[in-house]
Amino acid sequence: MSLLSKRYYSSARLLFTSLLLILLLFILLSLLFYHRLQQAQQIVNNVAEQAVPAVLEASRVHNKVKELNLQSELLRQAISQAARARAYQQISQIIVQMSTLDHQQYVQHQYQQQRLQLIADEALSLNKLITERLVLQQLSQQWLETLQQLQQQSQQLANSSTSQPWLLHYSGLLRDVTALYSIDRLYNLRQSRTELESRWLANQQLLNQLSGPAQVAATALATQLDTALRSERGILALRQAELTNIAKATGKANFLRSLVTDYASETELNAYQSAASLMQLSKQSSQALARQNQFSISLALAAILLLLAIMAYTQKRVIKRLKILNDKVQAGSGFDDDDRLFASNDEIADIARSFTQYSATVAAQQTALERQSLTDGLTSIANRRHFDSQLHSAVAMAKRMQQPLAVILLDVDHFKAYNDSYGHLAGDDTLKAIANTLANTLQRQVDLVARYGGEEFACILPNTSQQQAMAMAEQLRLEIMALMLPHQASPTAHIITISLGVACLHVGQDISDKVLLNQADKALYQAKRQGRNCSVML
Ligand code: GH3
Ligand code: MG
Ligand code: MG
Repeated sequence: MSLLSKRYYSSARLLFTSLLLILLLFILLSLLFYHRLQQAQQIVNNVAEQAVPAVLEASRVHNKVKELNLQSELLRQAISQAARARAYQQISQIIVQMSTLDHQQYVQHQYQQQRLQLIADEALSLNKLITERLVLQQLSQQWLETLQQLQQQSQQLANSSTSQPWLLHYSGLLRDVTALYSIDRLYNLRQSRTELESRWLANQQLLNQLSGPAQVAATALATQLDTALRSERGILALRQAELTNIAKATGKANFLRSLVTDYASETELNAYQSAASLMQLSKQSSQALARQNQFSISLALAAILLLLAIMAYTQKRVIKRLKILNDKVQAGSGFDDDDRLFASNDEIADIARSFTQYSATVAAQQTALERQSLTDGLTSIANRRHFDSQLHSAVAMAKRMQQPLAVILLDVDHFKAYNDSYGHLAGDDTLKAIANTLANTLQRQVDLVARYGGEEFACILPNTSQQQAMAMAEQLRLEIMALMLPHQASPTAHIITISLGVACLHVGQDISDKVLLNQADKALYQAKRQGRNCSVML
């Protein structure tokens, strides 16, 4: 068979390997999903713990910066110590709040803290400047009052006609000095100072033209004005210090604003960078996820296809063939004729081969059993069962074929005595010898000799007439005698002899097998009665 040359492969191993492959595919898929899930979780965590807080913080910082700028401006423009103190207190509080904002892990904390410290330092120095300016302004204010008093005093002198030109000039001088308060630039102050110097000289000349009490009063007023204007803490010195202070404060405030703005920008930049890097990470992750999705779909499709292939394979190569095998086993038929069972050289083919061998063995055993059930154990010729069934069909056949049929019943004479004399074992041997002789004497294929029971035998002779049957009976009797088996105890002869009863079914006669056998039995009985060792036909 070509099956022998076919390469052997195991269906079970193939199925197992395929299922293992599918399992590995699913494990791979699970690992991929797990990994991606971890990544997604990491991103969400980063968003929750970094990006969102950083953005919120940036927005809070932004608000604080606005407040800080507002308070700085209020500080710069403060017109009273109370307003200044309030503004500075607000600034300090805002700086503390900004330094405690929870941004340590998102920005360069140390660096930002240094910046805040710088802002605090600058705010402090601005505060000092404003304090100083307010003191200066207060002093200046006092001088303004002095100027008003001088104005009033000078007007009281106006009655005297001699002092009229000086007074007019003095009043103008007072106006010019008062005008110093509206100057807001140092350069203009210096110019005004020079002009005032020359005006002062002119006033001195007018003063010198006066005499008497008018000169004394005018000199007193002039001296007071001089003190107010040019003393160490006079209007000019104070205004100069004030304008210097304002210039410094403006610069300081601008610097403070730019520091604060830088700080806010830095925080916003950090927040933006943090959000941007996370967005980049999310984008990469989502791209990887999309790629993995495609890969997973391909893997899942491959697994499904593999499963379908396994199902188809199992259906065609395993289930179908097992069904055929089962049908064959149930029907008890052979397997060699069915190529489907041997389509693959695998376990099922092995089982089919084993069943083939097994069924052949069973068939052989059945045949042997059947043969055994029809054969006599001692003599190995047909037994009574076989004889009965053969006789039945032989009678039917004879009637159908319109042929005669003869039956011979024969019995060993005085066999009990033989057993008694020679022993049972010798009796058995004798029975075997007799059976052998009878079988050999009946030459025709269609004839049958059977052991009918004990030491009785029966023959069926199809298509045999009465005369032929009698002739055959005689031949059998003589053949047994010819064996010359000694039988000292036999009253008939000193050798083994047999008695025979012959019966015949004639053509056209309609008797049953039982009747025929009965006739033979009666004939045998007659032969015994006639003295044994003879053949009788009634
Ligand atoms: P007859 O001439 O009237 O037939 O006398 P007989 O002694 O042969 O007949 P009987 O019926 O009295 O005895 C038959 C004997 O055959 C008895 C039995 O011991 C013996 N016999 C029957 N079957 C066997 C057997 O299988 N082996 C042996 N050794 N003896 C058998
Ligand atoms: Mg007998
Ligand atoms: Mg006998």
